[in-house]
Amino acid sequence: MKTYRIATIPGDGIGKEVVPAGQRVLEAIAARSDAFQFEFENFDWGGDFYRQHGVMMPADGLDAIRNKDAILFGSAGDPHIPDHVTLWGLRLKICQGFDQYANVRPTRILPGIDAPLKRCGPKDLDWVIVRENSEGEYSGVGGRAHQGHPIEVATDVSMMTRAGVERILRFAFRLAQSRPRKLLTVITKSNAQRHAMVMWDEIALEVSKEFPDVKWDKELVDAATARMVNRPATLDTIVATNLHADILSDLAAALAGSLGIAPTANLDPERRYPSMFEPIHGSAFDIMGKGLANPVGTFWSVVMMLEHLGEMAAAQQLMSAIERITADPSLHTGDLGGTATTVQVTDAVCAILAAKPAAEFKAA
Ligand code: ATP
Repeated sequence: MKTYRIATIPGDGIGKEVVPAGQRVLEAIAARSDAFQFEFENFDWGGDFYRQHGVMMPADGLDAIRNKDAILFGSAGDPHIPDHVTLWGLRLKICQGFDQYANVRPTRILPGIDAPLKRCGPKDLDWVIVRENSEGEYSGVGGRAHQGHPIEVATDVSMMTRAGVERILRFAFRLAQSRPRKLLTVITKSNAQRHAMVMWDEIALEVSKEFPDVKWDKELVDAATARMVNRPATLDTIVATNLHADILSDLAAALAGSLGIAPTANLDPERRYPSMFEPIHGSAFDIMGKGLANPVGTFWSVVMMLEHLGEMAAAQQLMSAIERITADPSLHTGDLGGTATTVQVTDAVCAILAAKPAAEFKAA
């Protein structure tokens, strides 16, 4: 029997509620399988760790998780610690340390979810956003000088490398090719950003020649926001820089009904390091510790983890269990207008999984 070693990092806020829920669902899946099992190791990194040790994770933390098959992450963010410290000290340290350069965010309107786009049916919104996750606007290049003086200066340099742009665009074309519509939209801003984004456009054209069966177009990021709202069905796979995709994917999550549902994967497509799976929401301290967090974003992230591990049948089973519980309004948490708790939703998913015949969980 195959054993997958999973690092769990709940982090802060509701991460501490949704990650254990995700682990329970993985255990329910494993309980039905005679092909694989999971071995979990939990890491208590995050805001509390920072208060004790002055860092979000230990200096040799990456070595502790380097040999895992995957990482299930909750969130990093604490109202008492500056956001750039929590982000750079944990999540980005892992993403950059393990060169997880492809951030993948599927967006769909799940059954039973009341999404804000009234003119659009659930089938009109089925996107995957690919976010460049290793450089660009968030490369960390820059600095501050003359601090506290009137001549103070600060820079954040958006750094784009040919290698970095090529690999993310190639990843996006390949992903688009694997989806039924074979349709890719390359987000740009080359009208105003006349160096790096022009190179981005040129490389998109070059890489597109490797994928003659993929239909693709270019869209300015500002125009893309309007297109997502007004013509969602014209989009399928979308690729954008770190900053642009960060913003577009929050819009996408809102258009699909709730931040509490949306998942994401930080992938090292070359599989040199473990990839990391997490809900896109943050620590949500306002509802922390109350048992109200929607665990669906984490469960969908677990689906992506199972796909990455090659357990396609189990991934499909979990996705259909998720769709059954979203279709039932009595299992909606507060963010979806309901009153269900994290535990009730988790119990419901585990019960559906437990009821499936074991044969369905054999490796695909
Ligand atoms: P951070 O600073 O870590 O990004 P945040 O609280 O500013 O955290 P989010 O956690 O992303 O931002 O969420 C914003 C709001 O959306 C929260 O205050 C919460 O009310 C709601 N929310 C987010 N995720 C969930 C969830 N899983 N279940 C229920 N409500 C959620």
